[in-house]
Amino acid sequence: MYPKPLQNLIDLFAKFPGVGPRQAMRFAFFLLKQQNALVSEFQQGLAGLSQIRQCILCFRTIHSDSIVGAGQNGSEETLCMLCKDPKRDHGAVAVVEKESDMHSIEQTRIFHGLYHILDGVISPLDPESPKRLHLRELHSRVTKLLEHNGKAEVILATSSTTEGDTTALYIDRILIPLKTKFPDFAITRLARGLSLGSELEYADEITLKSALTNRK
Ligand SMILES: [Zn+2]
Repeated sequence: MYPKPLQNLIDLFAKFPGVGPRQAMRFAFFLLKQQNALVSEFQQGLAGLSQIRQCILCFRTIHSDSIVGAGQNGSEETLCMLCKDPKRDHGAVAVVEKESDMHSIEQTRIFHGLYHILDGVISPLDPESPKRLHLRELHSRVTKLLEHNGKAEVILATSSTTEGDTTALYIDRILIPLKTKFPDFAITRLARGLSLGSELEYADEITLKSALTNRK
């Protein structure tokens, strides 16, 4: 057994996704051997996490400094710059697995709508996985949008992987009943320009552009 503080650190690293006990131990010993510089940078980095908020609409991360006109008390009404931007098309919502996918789409500069970050994917092997995603929020967001505008487009921009496809199908199934009441509601999926099994964040810009343009 290692000294308690070291063991604590090992246990913490072992909680990281994809990090096993051996690797966790290597990380902890690596930090131990560093002289103060890196350790204090780490401390600062971790302390900075408390300044990160989430947009209540799209679940994108935002720095608390950039919140204009929000209260000091944890900001229940926090919206990100995109969701606040009147020039964006608020009637089009691209559903992505994670925030980096949103940035990939933004880089193409051809999508002018808003986003909805799911914070993961549905795993066909894990029946609990849908509960961990922002699906309920998506449903109520789209419902409100339709009640307000009468029309909307949801673009299922998940990866071309088994999980990405399962997630898209699942969302399609929970949103499709809204079409009965709102015939102008469209659910589209990125075109298959994305090669099978490819994650959105690794798609090059041109491929992603054509997948967006040819969505159906
Ligand atoms: Zn937002």
